[in-house]
Amino acid sequence: MALIVQKFGGTSVGDIERIRNVANKVKKELGKGNKVAVVVSAMSGVTNQLVAYVKELSPLATAEAWAEYDQVVASGEQVTSGLLALCLCEMGIPARSYSGWQIPLKTDKAHGKARIESIDAQKMLAEINSGKVVVIAGFQGVSEDGRVSTLGRGGSDTSAVALAAALKADRCDIYTDVNGVYTTDPRIVPVARKLDKIAYEEMLEMASLGAKVLQTRSVEMAMNHSVIVQVLNSFNDEAGTLLVKEEDIMEQKRITGIAYSRDDARISLTEIANIPGMSAALFAPLAQAGINVDMIVQNVTEGGKSTDITFTVPKADVDMALKVVENLQGKLKYKSLHADKNVAKISVVGVGMRSHTGIAQTMFEALAEKNINISVISTSEIKISVLIGEEYTELAVRALHAAFELEKA
Ligand code: ADP
Ligand code: ASP
Ligand code: MG
Repeated sequence: MALIVQKFGGTSVGDIERIRNVANKVKKELGKGNKVAVVVSAMSGVTNQLVAYVKELSPLATAEAWAEYDQVVASGEQVTSGLLALCLCEMGIPARSYSGWQIPLKTDKAHGKARIESIDAQKMLAEINSGKVVVIAGFQGVSEDGRVSTLGRGGSDTSAVALAAALKADRCDIYTDVNGVYTTDPRIVPVARKLDKIAYEEMLEMASLGAKVLQTRSVEMAMNHSVIVQVLNSFNDEAGTLLVKEEDIMEQKRITGIAYSRDDARISLTEIANIPGMSAALFAPLAQAGINVDMIVQNVTEGGKSTDITFTVPKADVDMALKVVENLQGKLKYKSLHADKNVAKISVVGVGMRSHTGIAQTMFEALAEKNINISVISTSEIKISVLIGEEYTELAVRALHAAFELEKA
């Protein structure tokens, strides 16, 4: 008998009929002789609506406001956990719903993007071992100060993986609205191919570079705690995608997938003095302000006297970043400061990059062929990212998908 954590996303619990469908998925797993713990998201659209209500009332400029944000937005998951438990009970399956604080799933106080600190699995295990299905509200926990906290958008994935680790579950099945992890977002590239397996490292890059099929932290957690994770479609019985260790993938293709993100903004400073210490003077205060700088490019201008620096920050932080940089004018003496929110980051990802050459060439040529200008490039061992105009996002993703022949098995 195995213990399986099943997580169902927003679309999968989008209405009562779909909740019944989910209950049948649970029943099926129980029918195999397994024990089940379920984690649910809010019905699709509900979290967006709750966030919109909050934003109508508050600019969310204080920690206190974010704590109230959590109190509001966590409610969506509470509703679905109760509805699914009710549905299971009506089907004759003993079940009980739990909110994050009742487990308890403890987090830090970073409301709106809290990190899980611990999960006490005792109560859940006792319930499961007494023959019940526990239905847990995802996305939420209780912070050190005893208040409701949430784990950041898409956080139910992380709730599920963390719970699987705490329960020492045999597997964590993430049910969503597509058949698994694809070579790229199948809504943008209809010929995208479902991957049977993907390496944890690749999934981590894909998620952090914008593939929202799994929250980045959930992949991190799965890696750190060796949780076996599968991504599946709640609307059919197709085989999904299994997250595996790199060495378990027999043949490495040049590229595994393409991710895109419209969540970044670009900031450029021109004609900073070309002397030691200028980058530190710029980036240290940004880090102190809690702003995550991602891509950076610096080029020396003609004559070598000054440099231009361009970097990216999350779109949500661009105004704060501009304020920080404006305050540094006395020190940096830049000639101009400019921000652009109309950018997108397109990334090709794959562990195959470690052993194949010419990836950058294929990438840049494919973009050039479509007349797409690249403003910033950044690389790691298993990814290359480029920053382009936002209006070219879909064109670039499609062009790269074709150039790397990802539709072919
Ligand atoms: P859920 O509500 O189930 O958590 P999400 O909307 O968070 O679902 O994630 C699933 C969506 O992720 C898919 O509908 C798809 O559009 C998007 N997506 C982006 N990149 C990928 C990818 N590489 N593979 C599969 N889905 C992807
Ligand atoms: N309901 C939350 C969100 O929309 C959490 C999740 O779906 O994972 O972000
Ligand atoms: Mg999600």
